[in-house]
Amino acid sequence: MRFFGWYLNFVHHARIPMPVEVVLLVAVLLGALIPLAILLYRRETRSRRSMKLQDEEKRLSQALEAQRVTTLRNEALTLEVRERQKTEAKLKHLAYHDPVTGLRNRAYLTEEIQSLLHKGPSPTGVIVLLYIDLDNFKTVNDMLGHRYGDVMLQEIGKRIQAAVRDEDVVARVGGDEFGVLMRNAQSVDRAFRLAQRLLTLIEEQIDLAGLAFTPAASIGLCRVQQDCTSPDVVLRNVDLALYRAKREGGSRVVIFDSTIHEEALATMRAKQEIKSAISNKEFVLFYQPLIDMRDHSIYGVEALIRWNHPRKGIVGPYEFISLMEESGQIVEVGAWGLKQACEDHKKMQELLDGNLVLSVNVSARQLELSDFVSTLRETLIESNIKPASLQLELTESILASETARIGALFQEIRSLGVKIAFDDFGTGYSSLSYMERYPIDTLKIDQTFVRRMRESPLNRDIVRFIVQLAHASGTNVTAEGVETAHEETELLSLGCAIAQGYLFSRPVPLDQIIGLLERGLPNAKKETKGRLFRIPARTEMV
Ligand code: C2E
Ligand code: CA
Ligand code: CA
Repeated sequence: MRFFGWYLNFVHHARIPMPVEVVLLVAVLLGALIPLAILLYRRETRSRRSMKLQDEEKRLSQALEAQRVTTLRNEALTLEVRERQKTEAKLKHLAYHDPVTGLRNRAYLTEEIQSLLHKGPSPTGVIVLLYIDLDNFKTVNDMLGHRYGDVMLQEIGKRIQAAVRDEDVVARVGGDEFGVLMRNAQSVDRAFRLAQRLLTLIEEQIDLAGLAFTPAASIGLCRVQQDCTSPDVVLRNVDLALYRAKREGGSRVVIFDSTIHEEALATMRAKQEIKSAISNKEFVLFYQPLIDMRDHSIYGVEALIRWNHPRKGIVGPYEFISLMEESGQIVEVGAWGLKQACEDHKKMQELLDGNLVLSVNVSARQLELSDFVSTLRETLIESNIKPASLQLELTESILASETARIGALFQEIRSLGVKIAFDDFGTGYSSLSYMERYPIDTLKIDQTFVRRMRESPLNRDIVRFIVQLAHASGTNVTAEGVETAHEETELLSLGCAIAQGYLFSRPVPLDQIIGLLERGLPNAKKETKGRLFRIPARTEMV
């Protein structure tokens, strides 16, 4: 406005004509507006440029940020992949290794066998699998606990690993079982020799917790060949060979062959047959009298199981007891036997004035049950038998494990008033130490000693020694398997009064033992009434 004021003043005083005035005005206006417009344009352009710049900067920084995030993400991903790979490797290691020994495990061994079978016949020759089982590992675990058990397994693992070649696979395949897969054994003979060397190495002494242990092992050996349709067949074959090695007494190597398989099938069938025999109630009890040789009175009876087989007739226990023990069927049959014997005893006892001892064989498998004593108590109550009339015959096999538990179990049995007899005495190695350790009422001298008394003075001395030792500790003695009058005289002269044997009577069914109890043995002394009669050379045969 000021400019217009000045301009009008200027045109008026300078008396400039009208058209010039207009042109001048336009010129002046243009002169003033153009720089303004330029200024404005420049400012606009600058601001636009700076906005664009800012946009670009922003975009750049966003891009940079995105790149940074991507890099970070990639790094995290790489880390994760690495972690996952590590975990996977760890898992794979766990899946194929045994955590205790660090050796391969059963899964790995099985896959290896599978892939060898898949490859077809080996160009390098013979592939062999060994299965090694420790025979007395349980003792270490029971005595010293699992920690030392693990140390023992690790040591055995190292011994095996050190003895085989790098290409052989050593695996721990079960609690106390190891496997060695020899991919190139060259021959079964060579593998057998290696197995024997392994046995020697394994059976070297190990010191654990200041105690010296001598491990024992059994080894099964089988060839991995094309007629094995799957790893399961190989594992079954080697297991059967191992089982045979153990059955033959352990500390040996057994090579699998087809007879082993056939035997195993027969055993399986027999177990099946026993199963149906149990449900058909085909088992019966026979009784063999225990004789007091001083007057030939019947002191007691031993219940001995028989299988009344529908085709074979009466079958003795040697054909089925060990199978029953293996399968655990002895638990059911044993419980039945104890009950049945107590019921039968009631019938026998009715005929007598005095007490008739009832001796019943009890298997180690029955004693392992935690409710053994309560079942025994129930049986005593149900049958109303005097506990002191009942004697349980146990064999040494039960003493091999858990000393403390067995001691307590013996006390419990005896606190019921029931007696304990030690069967087959003298056949185990540490029989004498057991005598000191456990409360035992009677020792039954194994029939092999009775039989061998005649053969040598040494055997006679052994029997004398056992009798003296038993008497010194207040333990009764019974001789088993007396077959001749000579054996009877010898035993009496050595201080053993009670015996059982074919000389007096074979085991007979219930009705026959009742008859024998009524009549007494034929040569029993006349002055002792009731059950005492004369002894025949041989009584009823079954
Ligand atoms: P064991 O307990 O040592 O029984 C004595 C075995 O010797 C009986 O064999 C008996 O018949 C036999 N014997 C008796 N006197 C003579 C003899 O003068 N000469 C000969 N050579 N043998 C004689 P058995 O009845 O065949 O029983 C064999 C084994 O089966 C028994 O040996 C026992 O260990 C086991 N057993 C029998 N019944 C049962 C049972 O009910 N339960 C359990 N767990 N085992 C049983
Ligand atoms: Ca017996
Ligand atoms: Ca015996």
